[in-house]
Amino acid sequence: MHRRAFLKGSAALGISAGMAQPLSGAAKSSGERGLSNGIVQTVLGAVDVSALGCTLPHEHIADGPYFLDKWPNGDRAAFTAQTIKSLGPARAAGIRTIVDLTTYDVGRDIRFLEQVSRKSGINMIAATGQRFFPPQYPGVSMPSRTIDGLCQFFKGEIEDGIDGTGIKAGVIKIGIVAKEPTDLESTGLRAAVRASRATGAAIRIHTHAVDRAADNLVAILDEEGMNPGKVSFDHSDDSGELEYFLGLVRRGYSLGMDHVHRGIRPNARPSFERRAECIRRLIDAGFAERLFISQDVEFGGTLLPDAVKDFRSRLDPVEGVLFTTRRLIPYLRGIGVSEQAIRTITVENPRRFFGLTM
Ligand SMILES: [Zn+2]
Repeated sequence: MHRRAFLKGSAALGISAGMAQPLSGAAKSSGERGLSNGIVQTVLGAVDVSALGCTLPHEHIADGPYFLDKWPNGDRAAFTAQTIKSLGPARAAGIRTIVDLTTYDVGRDIRFLEQVSRKSGINMIAATGQRFFPPQYPGVSMPSRTIDGLCQFFKGEIEDGIDGTGIKAGVIKIGIVAKEPTDLESTGLRAAVRASRATGAAIRIHTHAVDRAADNLVAILDEEGMNPGKVSFDHSDDSGELEYFLGLVRRGYSLGMDHVHRGIRPNARPSFERRAECIRRLIDAGFAERLFISQDVEFGGTLLPDAVKDFRSRLDPVEGVLFTTRRLIPYLRGIGVSEQAIRTITVENPRRFFGLTM
């Protein structure tokens, strides 16, 4: 039965909201403190949170141009056109918003993201923050190594815009690579909290869930006075430990279950089934409001021919950003997850989480 549910394709989600229309007044005031509870920053401007609709909260579109040199089918314009075309099925499946967690140090191209959002009809939320401490890409240097300096950089991308464009970030992403944060990662995390508290932007943290890494970040977040309701520990499903999950959601933190497809690989641990079961058990325990589902796809990599795909592109699901709607949600239904819970996770949680509130 589980397998049948898994294999069954899904119809478009019965969840829709129109493409967000920028609120010109809100866009003008979004650099001020004390933002309205109901506003979220997209790459096309500030919009009311009700416009988000079904949302994928952890994806990577903005690094698309990074894949251009491996792409045999033309120039940037052709690549951009193919990206927009390839996102058509996602919009048809009911996806209205994609949160792009590509930070400055891993190839973020904000004009590319803006163009893709405008032409695809999918809202995009861009991220400030940092993935690696220090950056690992050649030629990329950190804007600062102090808490205050990084905080100013993050705040600047949220309040003034990214790379001088005026396109504002709507979320903060921080990468913590291993079980314990390094000194520099701790600096970045503290800076993120201070930028969050000043702007209302939420924080999503790349965590090494296999080692229960989030348990080692809670003390820093508490010390900095962070509201747990504005923090998501992403890649959490890489841990199959329900007790780890419950410890975090009971404190008010959210869990990003965005690697579920990785469980499909032969001998993967936790398996796809175990990851989905953990989601269901958390819902049954009353924590649907603390969950997110996504698939952490580097979208540009999915456009490459198989022969030139790298390790990371091969990790991504063959369905790309359609994995959640085509595979995961139908499977969750098959193991007893309600439509209301799916709506809570895909629509209501993003609305609350990404709204610019303290
Ligand atoms: Zn990611």
